[in-house]
Amino acid sequence: MPESADRSRVFHEIDFDRPGKQIGYLRVPQSRDGGAWATIEIPIAVVNGGPGPSVLFTGGVHGDEYEGPIAVSGLARSLDPQSLRGRVILMPAVDLPAALAGRRMCPIDGRDFNRCFPGDPRGSFCQVLAHFIDSTILPMVEISVDVHAAGSAMEAAPSSNMHWKADVEMMQKTLALAENFAAPYNVVFWGVDETATLAAAAERRGVIAIAAELGGYGRVSVEGVRIARRGLDNVLKWMRMIDGIPDTSQPDGTPGTRHMEVRDQKGYVFAPSDGLFEPLHLPGAEVRAGQLAGHLHFVEEWERSPVPVEFRTDGFVWMAPGQGRVRKGDVIGVVMAPHSAE
Ligand SMILES: [Zn+2]
Repeated sequence: MPESADRSRVFHEIDFDRPGKQIGYLRVPQSRDGGAWATIEIPIAVVNGGPGPSVLFTGGVHGDEYEGPIAVSGLARSLDPQSLRGRVILMPAVDLPAALAGRRMCPIDGRDFNRCFPGDPRGSFCQVLAHFIDSTILPMVEISVDVHAAGSAMEAAPSSNMHWKADVEMMQKTLALAENFAAPYNVVFWGVDETATLAAAAERRGVIAIAAELGGYGRVSVEGVRIARRGLDNVLKWMRMIDGIPDTSQPDGTPGTRHMEVRDQKGYVFAPSDGLFEPLHLPGAEVRAGQLAGHLHFVEEWERSPVPVEFRTDGFVWMAPGQGRVRKGDVIGVVMAPHSAE
């Protein structure tokens, strides 16, 4: 393949090495009727305070998750390069078309942005942007924090999350990042379909990466925004990029994040058929294997009894469903258990 085929088609006027604050756009070409050279402008800010670490904070990878865009854009406005050591790259609405539409999937190409890595410079909108982030931005940073919520379908127990890794040093550093972000829970997981995410791409580049799930049900979580704002601030303090000591205290009086895990498929509850799912538990509820997770109702066959759906493992509800209509095979709940080091 000639080298030009690998080159990103995204252009911008940001100088990532220049000290000070720059707020601008990544321009992703998106030709359309009446706009041969049209672009989609993705907001990006770079706050460069000189020598020090580089970190990437992202929100709006999914457009129906609102805490990240609020927290990341707020930090982009308030962060003063004069009091910063190192560089913070902030992207508050990575999949901007999805964020404007309030949807998980990108309305331009119908893709889930967080399933597009490592991307493709000749691919669709999401693939082109994912390729730029993977090939240009991730190689510049040591830390990545990607703020999500559970979207329209679910509500998450407020948490950071990370992949389990065989590399002990990387595992320890990622646990430390999560402890300093300091959401009430940190979930270590052995995921379903996780190789194409931003966090997975970051890890392939040697970046210490966590994501966070700080709300859901398609609305803004008051507590989620608070945790996101404090978490990003905490990470900068932990990295000694700004002055201060991370505040890791929790509303229940505990001193820090509680490490949890989703080790295998048993943590996931799958819909046994299409229907209307009635959940019985809120995020954070303690549950047991065999306990009722909820009932699947069949409103088009009123005489049919609801089908009980059970949890398959002991633990606490990480993701609580609230989407109403579900299809056979949909995940309608995820259970996390206390993390064990083995
Ligand atoms: Zn998300």
